[in-house]
Amino acid sequence: NPLSLDPLKSKSPIGRIVDAPNGVVSFSRYAGARKFHELPISKRTKNGLEEGGFKKMTDIQVASLPHALCGRDILGAAKTGSGKTLAFVIPVLEKLYRERWGPEDGVGTIIISPTRELAGQLFDVLKAVGKHHNFSAGLLIGGRKGVDTEKERVNELNILVCTPGRLLQHMDETPNFDCSQLQVLVLDEADRILDIGFKKTLNAIVSQLPKHRQTLLFSATQTKSVQDLARLSLKDPEYISVHQEAV
Ligand code: ADP
Ligand code: MG
Repeated sequence: NPLSLDPLKSKSPIGRIVDAPNGVVSFSRYAGARKFHELPISKRTKNGLEEGGFKKMTDIQVASLPHALCGRDILGAAKTGSGKTLAFVIPVLEKLYRERWGPEDGVGTIIISPTRELAGQLFDVLKAVGKHHNFSAGLLIGGRKGVDTEKERVNELNILVCTPGRLLQHMDETPNFDCSQLQVLVLDEADRILDIGFKKTLNAIVSQLPKHRQTLLFSATQTKSVQDLARLSLKDPEYISVHQEAV
């Protein structure tokens, strides 16, 4: 099956909100958290993290998660290997969970990654950490023959993990492609996306997305073109730059 349509976990309906009534989280209460279990996140996510062996947060996670969990836009820079993936995977899962996102709600999150390989790796992290949630997620990456199969099913997915070219192809070609309810956009490894030459593609994508959304932009380096992309895609972002060595 060319489309990894992968219910992160299906069975019980989306449960009640335990940690964050009304989805309101105060930044200041959680600013000092060093461990994942201290964060205002669902039991489902905590269990996924624990089963993945994740306990202590890395510096980029410590610095960005309390803001991202409050719904803030993030411009985050930290070296390769510093743990940026969980800095956006957790807020994505929590946002959809708090919104009680269900199968009929369609695309709630788009995650853009520069290459097929990186998209595949982050999809695996999403599946592992999100396995106790009910969301469906799909890997939409260029180069495979399965674009037609993807087109039939893309509107059933809650979380799209895509390379830029393939996402724009779906936006242009897929009948009824609907991202009008998008809650969170993630631009991962943004410097590499731009280095590869996807600036125009990204601009075309972002200009078609609903403005009312949270955007999380992560990059290994803060280049001029990353700043330009940030200006285009982020709203009043929290700027986070950390220098921790790789974990
Ligand atoms: P980046 O995107 O910044 O290059 P990744 O998110 O790919 O980094 O993480 C790099 C490695 O660190 C991965 O193997 C990941 O499993 C591991 N990692 C991430 N966060 C933690 C953590 N809090 N505790 C332990 N290992 C972690
Ligand atoms: Mg990464």
